Amino acid sequence: MINQLQKDLEQLGELFHQTQAQSLAYLSGLENRPTSTQHTVEHKKILQENGIGTLGALQQFNKRFEPLMVGSSGPRYWGFVTGGTTPAGIAGDWLTTIYDQNPQGLNGQGDVSANVEIETIHLLLDLFHLPSDFFGGFVTGATMSNFTCLAVARQWVGTQNEKDIAKEGITSSIKVISTTPHSSSIKSLSLLGIGSSNVIKIETAKGNRESIDMDALENYFKSNSKESVILLSSAGTVNTVDFDDFNAIAKLKEKYSFWWHIDAAFGGFAACSSHRQHLVAGWEGADSITIDCHKWLNVPYESALFFVKQKHSVLQVETFQNSNAPYLGNPMENFNYLNFLPENSRRLKALPAWFTLMAYGKDGIREIVDNNIAHAERFGKGIEASLQFELLAPVRLNTVCFTLQGEENQEKIKPFLSKLNAMGKVFMTPTIYKERKGIRAAFVNWRTTSEDIDFVLELMCKVIKGHL
Ligand SMILES: *Cc1c(COP(=O)(O)O)cnc(C)c1O
Repeated sequence: MINQLQKDLEQLGELFHQTQAQSLAYLSGLENRPTSTQHTVEHKKILQENGIGTLGALQQFNKRFEPLMVGSSGPRYWGFVTGGTTPAGIAGDWLTTIYDQNPQGLNGQGDVSANVEIETIHLLLDLFHLPSDFFGGFVTGATMSNFTCLAVARQWVGTQNEKDIAKEGITSSIKVISTTPHSSSIKSLSLLGIGSSNVIKIETAKGNRESIDMDALENYFKSNSKESVILLSSAGTVNTVDFDDFNAIAKLKEKYSFWWHIDAAFGGFAACSSHRQHLVAGWEGADSITIDCHKWLNVPYESALFFVKQKHSVLQVETFQNSNAPYLGNPMENFNYLNFLPENSRRLKALPAWFTLMAYGKDGIREIVDNNIAHAERFGKGIEASLQFELLAPVRLNTVCFTLQGEENQEKIKPFLSKLNAMGKVFMTPTIYKERKGIRAAFVNWRTTSEDIDFVLELMCKVIKGHL
């Protein structure tokens, strides 16, 4: 064994001890850790001949990269939709690395950690009040979940036209209809050969909405009733967290032929709230659903899942089967995850989510979700009450989309936000909503408190008045 490796093995305890001490220091200082950094780093291009051992690597990391690590898992990182990490999520993630399993099959043909994954899927279905006729699995993020679901949707469209697209490739164009799709779905359409510009945009519902106008949708189906299409619907748009009307879509599904996908990356957690469940009413009728766990479930990256109706399992296996032989029989017999999703080898991604569900239960998740909704409402009220800012849309769930009052101040938004973010106390991201420049604050971190909200509102006022 090479010298450094032998040494590392001998001092494994010390090595873990130092890593743990550093982890604790990071987590206990998270509240005060800057949310942005000016620190830069020169990238090495030459790999040294001799290694410096893990403790040496730790020193190097601390010297060069550690200062780049911003408090993105902390309470005031409100940019994009950025979740934090709970203690249970971290413990599960840690053990995922230690056990280093590769979840595939269930029944003793090698690694059987897929049992953890299947159980976690069942528990999550229960958490979201979804029926057990969905099957699911873990992927790296909502992007890959959208990709996975849309890949099965593509196979379904093929079948309607007696084509096996997984085998034959795409021979005629596939239409996707949507109103406010997430950029990652558009990216998935490029990857899938469907083409990102083959999305037919249905108009938004009237009023200050980002959801599908249901009359326009039905009209589309009426005049194109011969064509099987993919409907890409939203449970939580990123700007204003708007939801399509799932009960109404479910009714259309009785009359028209389409694959119904819901991107519920973070909005799906409305199902766990004590007072926002109605936003997802009817979503159980979908063919496929995307959920991110590294956002609102607060497990470390990379964790997301897909739910696809079990009646489509054959299509799913046709899409992802990892063998050239045609799949025979029931795909749920001799089950193997590698025939159901993009990756072959992968880590036991389900374990951090499993730990989280065990540790906090339905009640704990509900509390995280309800607290974050209350934070968004508090922040939204602060914006409404201020003389400098205004809401761009009502606060529907956990995100506040706002701007500076006055058209003449549109050009001041960027410098304002840059200044605010550079202070390192809070981080938000810019957006454009209905042709107006604005700012988004998304609340999905379990550590955020109402003091954080009040602190930031005050800070924003000082910055805008030029007092800082
Ligand atoms: C974040 C997000 C995605 C992409 O998720 P990743 O985890 O970044 O891959 C897709 N859809 C919605 C609605 C999102 O909020």
